[in-house]
Amino acid sequence: MNDDDQWSDSNLNLASDEADPHRRAVYDAEEVWWMETCDESEEDETHLEPEMVVPYMVAALQAGGWTTSERPVVLFDISTASGFSGAHRPTSSTIHLHPELCSPDHVLHELSHWIDDQDGHGPIHQANMVTLVHAAIGSEAAQHLLRTYRSFGLHPDEGLLP
Ligand SMILES: [Zn+2]
Repeated sequence: MNDDDQWSDSNLNLASDEADPHRRAVYDAEEVWWMETCDESEEDETHLEPEMVVPYMVAALQAGGWTTSERPVVLFDISTASGFSGAHRPTSSTIHLHPELCSPDHVLHELSHWIDDQDGHGPIHQANMVTLVHAAIGSEAAQHLLRTYRSFGLHPDEGLLP
């Protein structure tokens, strides 16, 4: 089995909903938030060309206050058939993305896993996502995401919020 095969569909499903009870609510909340955000955005703010993804991530990390000099490694190897836009394995420095689904919401979601993937889609992940959105998109979008998470019954870690 080569590396590409390892990223075929079944392996993308990194944790079951049982093991990661926040996952479904996080996906749903972010989908609603992003649809509402896109309504008010220019088209060039809602899509990133693949070559812009790592610079976008590095800028978000710096603006968000993360001082690591480590850079994410991004592979554009997620297939349409998978039904996923991206994936990240715990303890890996590599982020996997679909080459045509590089929107800020997907890119920042995977970057939030890259920063800290200890709790799946739990409170730390959610708070880091809010911080990244604040850094990369702006405070209004971050507040909107925070409200949306809460309306889905989620509780991002208060101590990590921007
Ligand atoms: Zn995720």
